[in-house]
Amino acid sequence: MTEPLSASRSPVKAYVGLGANLGDAATALKDALAKLAATPGVDGASVKASSIYRTAPIDSSGPDYLNAVAELSTTLTAPALLKALQSIENAAGRERPYRNAPRTLDLDLLLYGDGRIQAPPTLVVPHPRMWERAFVLVPLHELAPGKVSQATLDAVAEQARGVHRIGP
Ligand code: ADP
Ligand code: MG
Repeated sequence: MTEPLSASRSPVKAYVGLGANLGDAATALKDALAKLAATPGVDGASVKASSIYRTAPIDSSGPDYLNAVAELSTTLTAPALLKALQSIENAAGRERPYRNAPRTLDLDLLLYGDGRIQAPPTLVVPHPRMWERAFVLVPLHELAPGKVSQATLDAVAEQARGVHRIGP
């Protein structure tokens, strides 16, 4: 990734997956949305959030997860946006004791315009596991129906029955 982070560029529409399952998860998601909107390089007025959904943990443990997806317009590069997401996670007290551990806040860069980024393990976009995760696809479909095909939704229909819309 050799692009300068600060060069002026045209805004890109990005989608971020939010998840939390420890502590006050609803507050963690709302705080994260506010911080995203306040991030330099993110157009605060552009930030739109899906409803909040509750899901039993998949590949993880602990209490139910709350999940949502946010849409935003940004002039940040994808790596710079990922860094911003990670600093919001860290500020929320995110620890990584082991893979897929319960977490106070998880922010994943799902889509960055039409960008395809292959810089594993640091950054892969579209997020490689999003297509099989109903807790990502259901809120993403609510926010941006054109981004999730019916066939993709159908493939996770069974899992989607465990994804419950709980709030605005
Ligand atoms: P999870 O896969 O459960 O979200 P983590 O949040 O702990 O796990 O992320 C692990 C690593 O995934 C991070 O260090 C990050 O660099 C990397 N990663 C790769 N692609 C992405 C992406 N699109 N969004 C967020 N993190 C990513
Ligand atoms: Mg993550």
